[in-house]
Amino acid sequence: MQAHDTVLHQLAHKRANLPQKALLSAAQEDAQHLVEELEIAKSAESDIRRELTRLEDEIVKVEARSARDKERLESGGGQSRELIALQQELETLARRRASLEDDALEVMERLESARETVVGLAESGRLADLRVSDLEQELAGASAELDSAASGEQARRAAAAAGLDDGLVKLYERLRGRLAGVGAAALVGGRCQGCGMVLSASDLAAIAALAEDDVARCEECGRILVRAVNAA
Ligand SMILES: [Zn+2]
Repeated sequence: MQAHDTVLHQLAHKRANLPQKALLSAAQEDAQHLVEELEIAKSAESDIRRELTRLEDEIVKVEARSARDKERLESGGGQSRELIALQQELETLARRRASLEDDALEVMERLESARETVVGLAESGRLADLRVSDLEQELAGASAELDSAASGEQARRAAAAAGLDDGLVKLYERLRGRLAGVGAAALVGGRCQGCGMVLSASDLAAIAALAEDDVARCEECGRILVRAVNAA
């Protein structure tokens, strides 16, 4: 029974500390981080897009004004002073337009790179999500394996307990609760394997004198001492 309980304890420990658990939580963190980065990149992209739209609107206005000025200039009416002013305005508008177009070009380049960032992050996010679901599956598989090992061990423990005296099982459970999960220990070379204490010659003699189904206890820790190698 002690052997089964030790195995069960090890299985529970293994289940609680499956390497997939740490990997999964790291992968989930990565995925979450990418979601946030993507959000930021998308908002940066739409800011740049708005900036471009503003510049394009401005260019349309400048073009409209230039067209109107040209029309008035070509109609030839008005005083020469007025015509000179129109000519000057057209030059100013042409410079303004060239500068707006330079700006728009630069913004388009930034927009392109922002768009690439969004696409790249979306792809990384997709891969991170895949990794999370892969790890979730692996973890579920490993947990199920350990669960089935544990239920097999539970069955063997129950079978072992069924062959034992009720009072002894109760004593064992009580000791196990009190003594770090170990209620029974082997007696090897006069030493209790539970606490490491070497029993005195008189204790050993007393134990040796016990009938085979009498219960021997360690004087030091109180654990049930298992004399035969494969008992309990
Ligand atoms: Zn002991």
